[in-house]
Order: sequence, then structure tokens, then C-alpha cells
Amino acid sequence: MTLLRHYINGKWQESASGRVREIRSPHDQHVVVQATEGNLTDVLNAIEAAHTTFESGIFRSWSWQDRQSLLLRIADLIERDADIYAKAESGDTAKRLIEAEYDIADVISVFRFNATLKEPGHSVDIGRLEIESRIAYEPVGVCALIGPWNYPLLQISWKVAPALLAGCSFIVKPSELSPSTAVLLMHTLTEAGVPAGVANLILGAGSEVGTPLTSDPRVDLISFTGGLATGRAIMASAARTVKKVALELGGKNPNIIFADADIDAAIDNAVTAGFLHSGQVCSAGTRLLVEASIHDRVVDELVRRADEITLGGPDNEAAETGPLISEGHLNKVLGYIERAVKEGATLRVGGKRALAPGLEAGWYIEPTVFDGCSTEMASVQEESFGPIITVETFTTEEEAIALGNDTIYGLSGAVWSADLGRCDRVAAGLRHGTIWINDYGPYRPEAEWGGFKASGVGRELGGSGLHEYLEAKHLWRNTSPGRSGWFRDSGHP
Ligand code: NAD
Repeated sequence: MTLLRHYINGKWQESASGRVREIRSPHDQHVVVQATEGNLTDVLNAIEAAHTTFESGIFRSWSWQDRQSLLLRIADLIERDADIYAKAESGDTAKRLIEAEYDIADVISVFRFNATLKEPGHSVDIGRLEIESRIAYEPVGVCALIGPWNYPLLQISWKVAPALLAGCSFIVKPSELSPSTAVLLMHTLTEAGVPAGVANLILGAGSEVGTPLTSDPRVDLISFTGGLATGRAIMASAARTVKKVALELGGKNPNIIFADADIDAAIDNAVTAGFLHSGQVCSAGTRLLVEASIHDRVVDELVRRADEITLGGPDNEAAETGPLISEGHLNKVLGYIERAVKEGATLRVGGKRALAPGLEAGWYIEPTVFDGCSTEMASVQEESFGPIITVETFTTEEEAIALGNDTIYGLSGAVWSADLGRCDRVAAGLRHGTIWINDYGPYRPEAEWGGFKASGVGRELGGSGLHEYLEAKHLWRNTSPGRSGWFRDSGHP
């Protein structure tokens, strides 16, 4: 069986701990791969490698154009090996192979998009002829790039591509549940010509290898994608050494349907928004807000559609969505279902573990719809990260906006209406980082992604995603130096 290892300073290494973690398929619990389980010694070695390499200047001295070419080579190599990547991603997560293939195609476009970004920098007109003033952008330094398990390589690629373009050194820490594609990426980066010590990889648990990455003074930036609780802990830890943080956290995303919308399209998208990847999507449309006059029609149809969804493992071609990532996560989601029932929500479909033949050994939950929900309910406020849609109703535009904003999160949302003026007003009123109008879910590497409020700090993708990895430096050059003349100088005439 393959043993996944750390990649530190250009060398594959087993952990100083000697421990090994088994990565098991969420579909049937077979051991997919084994991974070395990192400890503090490994993390310190990786940080030292990234720090020394950054200080040496070996990579940041590359021209911007050379780093753009590097990203294009990486994209080409991932494309060449796309099948291997997709199988590995699907193996760890048990997501359908076709979904993993889409994810890898997205990863390739992330590298290609970043390669188009021009080197930033500009002159500043100070209004004095003798002064040349310029803003230059330099790499932020050593970065800790920490990723989740739901889109393992995609979320890491949003960080690695701009970090490389900026000229940073980094340590990638994938989720301990889905490390395979991050390992493949290190092979690809090396083949593409990334110098040893620039890209390092540490495998292991967040508590053991993640925490030291967030407290070491040699780390300049933490870019983290994951849950709110972890994000809070990371921000607190980063405060001690005043690190920069970029946080992509959870969401509780409102999907708002007005009575004049294209109802068929809205319902079909609501099903996808809530149940794609069994709801393990940060932008999942978990809060359906429906205008009261169309409530019954929308909810009846949603329930019918949810009931039809075929669950199954990565090799089941009939399957439309797969299992949850782990037993722990399954129990957390079942806990939210139990809580919603106790809170008085009406269970319309699903609501339990799926144990049909072929699913018994997996972490499957039936697509679930709760009607009669309200914003006081934990099931409406907290991110379950499972296949649960809660339904609330509204009667006015103002009420729809207020409900859509009644959450600590602010990641994404959607509005469905034939009245484009209303769509624009609702979109303007919603405090979320992405708003879809008469659509749900698309994201593009060219467009900024990130959250308002507790959904995060900073942005990934777009031009802003690159700027997280850069420091602005103001260069002031006086071409005609003179005395400052501020303090009295008795020796000067
Ligand atoms: P998680 O917070 O449990 O773990 C994320 C990563 O952080 C893992 O690699 C984990 O090992 C590591 N980690 C855990 N504790 C740590 C610590 N104390 N210090 C440093 N690292 C630590 O999240 P998850 O369960 O892997 O992912 C699901 C969450 O990710 C959901 O909340 C989802 O909304 C969020 N997510 C957000 C986006 C986005 O773009 N906003 C995208 C994908 C996922």
C-alpha cells in the first residue's frame, strides 16, 4: 500500500513520529491509502525549509514573467495527469469521479488564470519634480496554506497559484482526511521547476501540525479554508505574532425565490444548491426563502425531487451524490436533524441515515427538507455542512432581504425573480460575498470569492486573491537631496 509522505526542502520524508494514518473511503471504509502522521518536529523542519529558501531569494528573484510561465507549465502537467488526480480525489472523498474531474478542470483553470495576472506596481505623483515615488509589490514571505476536505485540491490551488506567482515560499497542510492530491501536486510543482524548499507539504491532524503553523514567528501569512471554529482559533493564534490572515470560512446561504420567478429553473437549482456533494459545499443553498404565495408549489416539488436523488459511491454510475466525509461528520449532521425536529421544524423528506443495500457501510444521509423553519432555529443559523434544506417564507422584498441577512455568515446567496430591478435591489441589500441572480453556484477564477461577516477575511481568486500574497512597498527617491531644516542647527548659517 502506498504511504503518502511529507515533502520538505525537496525531499520526501516520513514523519519523525513514526505514526501512520489510514485514509478510508467514506463509501465503504476500505483503506484507500496510508499517510505519514506529522508532528511538531516535522512542522518545524518544513517552516525552516520555507524560511531559509525565502531568505535566500532563490525564487523571489525570478522575474514575474518566469513565474507566470511556471504556472502555465503546472497547469499543463496537471492536465496531462488529470485522470490520476481525479481518481485520487475521488478515492479520498468518495465523491463521484465525474465531480472530481470537474474539480481538477477547475484547478487547471485557476493556474491558467493566475498566469494572466500582470505584475502590480505604479508611480505616485507627489507634486514635486525632484521626487520619484513608486509603489512596488513584494512577496509576503512564508505562507501556511491550510485546506479542507470537501474540495481538497481546488481550495489548495486557490492559494498555491497566487503564492507562487507572488514569489512566496509555503507549507501546504491539506486536510488529514483527504491528503492524496496535495501529494500529487508536490510532484507536479517539482517537475514544473519549483525550486526545492519553496513548496513544502506537511500531513497530519490540524491540532498537531496545523497549530504550530499558526504560531511560528517565521510564518508571515496564514491562508486558511475551513470551519468557523478553526478560523477563530487560527485568527487568535496569529494575533500573537501579528501574522496576516486570509480566512475562507463557512456559510449559511439564502436562496430567495419570488413568485414571479421561473419556478421550474428555481426549484431545479435549489435541489442542486442544497444537495450537490451532499451539501458539503461552503456555498450550499441551505436556506430556501420562498414567497408565501408559491410556498406549497415550491416545497412539494422540492420534496419530490429530493426523494428521487440516487445516492451511491464513486464507481456507481447511477449515483447523483455521495457520502459524507466521515462518521464524525455524519453524526454531527444527524444531530442537526434531531435538533430541527425538536425545534419544531416540519420534516418533509429524508431525515435519517441512508442504509439501502450498497450504502450500509458508508456515511450516507438522505436528502432532507425541513419546512416551517424560522431564524431562531439552530438548524437555520448554524452550518450543518450536510444535505439539509430549511424552508422559510416571506411576503415582501424587505422581509426577504432581512431574512437573508439574519445570519452571522455572509458567503453567498441567490435571488430568483423576473423583475430585474427587484433582483438588483435584493442583491444590493444582501451582505454576502457572492450573489447569483436567477442562477446558483457558479464561481470563476477571474472573480473574487470570499465572505462578509463571519464567513471570512480577505478574498481568494480574481486580482484580490493575488494581493493577499503581496506586500506593498513605497519607494521614495529624492533626486535632489537637501537638509530637512526641522530642528534648529546653531552650526548652520
Ligand atoms: P476544519 O476547520 O475542520 O479543517 C480545515 C483544515 O484546518 C484542516 O486541514 C484541518 O486539519 C486544519 N485545522 C484544524 N484545526 C486546526 C488548528 N487549530 N490550526 C490549524 N489548522 C487546523 O474544516 P473542514 O471540516 O475540513 O472543512 C469544512 C469547512 O470548510 C466548512 O465550514 C466549509 O464551509 C468550509 N469551507 C469554506 C470554503 C470557502 O470558500 N469559504 C470552501 C470550502 C470549505
